[in-house]
Amino acid sequence: MKVRSVRARLTLWNVGVLALVLAGFGLGLCYSVRVMFQRSVDEELRRMARGQAERWARGGPMPGPPPFREGFPPGDGPPGGPAGPAPGRFGPGMGEGFPQPPGPPPGEGPGPSGGLTLLERGRERTVAEERRPQGLLGPGLFAGAPPDRQFPFRRPRFLNRSGGPLAEGSQDTPLDPTAVADAVAGLVTYSTVTMTVDDTEAPLRVISYPLVRRNPQGAWVEGVLQIPYNLTEFHRLQEGLVRVLLMLIPLALLVAGAGGMFLADRSLRPVREITEAAAQIGAEDLSRRLPVPSQDEFGRLALTFNGMVGRLQEAFGNLEAAYEQQRRFVGDASHELRTPLTTIKANTSLALFGERSPVEYQEALQEVDQAADTMNRIVQDLLLLARSDAGQLNANLQPTSLASVLERAAGNLRLRETAPVHVALPEPSPQVMGDSHHLTRLFGNLLDNATRHTQVEGRIDVTAHIESLPGSEREEVVVRIRDTGEGIPPEHLPHLCERFYRVDTARSRERGGTGLGLAICRSIVEAHGGHLSFESQVGVGTAVTVRLLRAADYLEDTPLPAGTSGCRLV
Ligand code: ATP
Ligand code: MG
Repeated sequence: MKVRSVRARLTLWNVGVLALVLAGFGLGLCYSVRVMFQRSVDEELRRMARGQAERWARGGPMPGPPPFREGFPPGDGPPGGPAGPAPGRFGPGMGEGFPQPPGPPPGEGPGPSGGLTLLERGRERTVAEERRPQGLLGPGLFAGAPPDRQFPFRRPRFLNRSGGPLAEGSQDTPLDPTAVADAVAGLVTYSTVTMTVDDTEAPLRVISYPLVRRNPQGAWVEGVLQIPYNLTEFHRLQEGLVRVLLMLIPLALLVAGAGGMFLADRSLRPVREITEAAAQIGAEDLSRRLPVPSQDEFGRLALTFNGMVGRLQEAFGNLEAAYEQQRRFVGDASHELRTPLTTIKANTSLALFGERSPVEYQEALQEVDQAADTMNRIVQDLLLLARSDAGQLNANLQPTSLASVLERAAGNLRLRETAPVHVALPEPSPQVMGDSHHLTRLFGNLLDNATRHTQVEGRIDVTAHIESLPGSEREEVVVRIRDTGEGIPPEHLPHLCERFYRVDTARSRERGGTGLGLAICRSIVEAHGGHLSFESQVGVGTAVTVRLLRAADYLEDTPLPAGTSGCRLV
């Protein structure tokens, strides 16, 4: 099952990792306690065994509780029978392979003059149940000793090399029969066995310690001492520890789960707030911003999101402006085309309606012709602007003489009466990088505007000079067309180059203007890498400045700008 909520996933991971850590910690704790306890028990057993073995070797009294009879396995003899070596479970037959005292056993020990080395080894073993007759520990059998069910689990056993009782009259049987052989071989052995007396079962840690007899001839193992340590209490303690851990670990996991859930919920609250706020920001309301809750990761997320919404808002704004411009452009174009179309339709309808004189037909055809010219001009202008939008106006840039361009542009003005145009250019005429056809169109439009808005009594001056571009080796040709006409109110200056924009729409249309002239001028100037600017004062006149890159003689090292050919720029 896939958990969809981050909060639940975080909590589950938290609890899972903690469960693993706690389980590992619990196992480690149990193991360490067990190892440390066993090490300390073994140490204690060794100390006791050494003391008892030394006392035995000196012939001193056997320490520990008074001798008693634990009973006999069936066939070992009647309880309370005559004292004598009792074979125990290891009957005489089982010890046949062991060398017998008093002489040092062959192959064991270093010989008469050497000592006997004791080796230690730990072992775990479970021995078969050791049964005793019923009522063995009952009162009376101990000759007045208080009943002590633990007693058999504590009493040390002195055994001979065969595993039978070492002392005469003793009933000692081995606690761990399998360790006897190793102890006889000089090895101190630790083992864990389970012993059952009546219904009482006890885990015992048993040390099997060689009883070494020494005389001037040498040393030999005469018997084996086995001392038990009852591990019942320790096992109980260990079970208690496991029980406590099994209770505490789920409790800790529960607390960690609840805490983790609370913390995850708190940490993810900003995400919820950001999500809700982001859901409310629609395309129509991009001005809204997310709250920035803090300087942390969520704060940075909100800031990044706000930045993205800001960029979207800007892009939407540009799109809207472009869309609005496009809509106005289509409306204006349709409107401009509709006027000559209406003229054409009116004249043709009138001409077809009844008989007309030849003069009337001629007049109608003339008006149709003019309207067709207007339409043609508008369509040509629109096509030129479309080509400009597609970046195709700079296809043929050549060094072009400014004087010849201005001469051609002014030639179109001679058809009508205008204010005089004075052209003053430096000698020789500056060369500009450009397309002569487009440049003629540019200056033709500007001169057309100047003459249309200047009374015939006025004056139009065209001047040019060369300026160095700051920080560059290149130069510009600065052409200024200044008239003494009616001027342009300042609020219109920023819009002059927009398509179909006219200061006085009605008057301009009367004069045959469509408002595309300056838009075309700007496109041409930009396509030539130049710049167009206006200064005007109402009632004083207007000055239009055109800056174009100057073309010089061919220069090998100067790279050509994109779209230029045939000469180099400086
Ligand atoms: P078109 O040039 O397409 O025939 P137009 O001359 O009306 O039409 P533009 O050349 O784009 O359009 O000029 C835009 C407006 O700027 C004009 O309508 C006019 O009012 C104003 N204008 C341009 N040049 C001058 C000038 N030298 N003096 C005064 N007004 C000017
Ligand atoms: Mg114009």
